[in-house]
Amino acid sequence: MSLQLNDNSCIAVIGGGPSGSFFTYFAYDFAKRFDLELTIDIYEAKDFSKIGAGGCNHCGGIISESLVQMLAADGIVIPSNIIRSGINTYTLHVEQGQSVIKTPSNEQRIASVFRGCGPKGCLDTSQRSFDDFLLMLCKEKGANIVYEKITNAERTDDGIFIESKTFVKKKYDLVVGAAGLNSKTFEMFASICPELVPPKTTRTYINEFFLKKDIVEIFFSNSMHVFLLDLPNITFGALIPKENYVTLVLLGQDIDKEIVKKFVESEQVKGCFPEGLNLEEAAHCKCYPYINVKAAKNAFNDRVVLIGDSASSKLYKNGIGAAYITGRAAAKAAVFEGISKESFKKSYYKTCQDLNLDNQVGKFIFFVTKIIQKSKFLKRGLLQTVINEQKDASENRIMSSILWDTFTGSAGYRNIFVRFLNPKLLFKFFWNIIKTNIYIKKYERKSSWN
Ligand SMILES: Cc1cc2nc3c(=O)[nH]c(=O)nc-3n(C[C@H](O)[C@H](O)[C@H](O)COP(=O)(O)OP(=O)(O)OC[C@H]3O[C@@H](n4cnc5c(N)ncnc54)[C@H](O)[C@@H]3O)c2cc1C
Repeated sequence: MSLQLNDNSCIAVIGGGPSGSFFTYFAYDFAKRFDLELTIDIYEAKDFSKIGAGGCNHCGGIISESLVQMLAADGIVIPSNIIRSGINTYTLHVEQGQSVIKTPSNEQRIASVFRGCGPKGCLDTSQRSFDDFLLMLCKEKGANIVYEKITNAERTDDGIFIESKTFVKKKYDLVVGAAGLNSKTFEMFASICPELVPPKTTRTYINEFFLKKDIVEIFFSNSMHVFLLDLPNITFGALIPKENYVTLVLLGQDIDKEIVKKFVESEQVKGCFPEGLNLEEAAHCKCYPYINVKAAKNAFNDRVVLIGDSASSKLYKNGIGAAYITGRAAAKAAVFEGISKESFKKSYYKTCQDLNLDNQVGKFIFFVTKIIQKSKFLKRGLLQTVINEQKDASENRIMSSILWDTFTGSAGYRNIFVRFLNPKLLFKFFWNIIKTNIYIKKYERKSSWN
């Protein structure tokens, strides 16, 4: 049976984070081409105008260049009151030193945003959240935003009923699961999407350091600080400036309090802040959110499709970009192909498969990064390669652009991997490993004689 959206079809989007908003935005756009009138209700459990956890979708808040560009091509420009800082350099920190990596192209700029109205304790309520901005775009297109948590879903012959604690059941032709990694919501989806296997997740860490605006400007400027330190469980640590806050993000395997402590107390991290600053006291808002590390399986069925983190994301990076990709692809499939399991399999599934395949390469890249992270010899070579590239404007900055794209999530992992295999780059990298380590050995020998 081919299920199709018709004039006045009703769609429920469960979750008003980026994937739910992107689905809605593009569903209206695509439907317009068919002169199709859709009713879309977005259900969101949080109020993004709230300060702290109640209004926040825990995230580093980096909007990658690729996403900024894709949004601009769709006519979506992120307003300046949403952007907390424009990031135009990365500062790479390893135990052996640091180097600033400039944006590979002057046109490419990254934005840092808050997903909620602001961290716990924040007094400035004039700030707007990125998620709220996207929701309001959907409202302008005609969506109804309902601030309710959906607690139940039931399938009937001709639709799906959903309900919350406060309203009676309402029937929809299509239900879109954009609920992130909420385990309770996955249980609910099991009844309408029985073959669904939820994504695998791991625990990460975020905290917001509250500092004065001029301190952030002096110590961080427009640079995101990235750390490749030899510390257990941490694949990636970053400090992201956001006007009068600096966000700390730790990604890796089951991050806990002890791991966070080791990271924050490392010389390299403390060195980024004013001397003597009590980082424990400055850390106003802390959380240990989950991140998607393995995609869901069978994330669609007749009249049901899951998108964003609930289905497939990008490993460790650019999850908002992946929410855009899956949200748009699901909207395209629903409007142009239909809303049956077969239609989603034919069209939407390819997008998820492509993300999943790229993540496999990403896993290999992070495996190699881990080896580099653990070896001072390799790290010296890496740092020297970046320093040499950054010194010389005429240099083809391949390593810098690879690191830039790995940290920002701006390019696909397959693309990054192919660039890493460049023979000239590999020669430069290995030459710098040999050169820097011979130099260090000589220096150490000389010092021990003295
Ligand atoms: C530590 C960390 C740092 C990250 N940093 C970045 C970064 O810098 N850049 C980046 O691009 N990505 C980053 N990500 C990933 C990014 O946050 C996610 O990939 C992205 O938010 C996914 O969007 P989504 O809409 O699928 O899900 P979410 O953003 O999780 O949104 C889901 C929404 O559904 C709502 N919801 C859930 N259940 C229900 C229900 N039953 N009824 C109603 N509403 C419901 C929730 O309240 C929520 O608003 C990071 C993730 C983590 C964990």
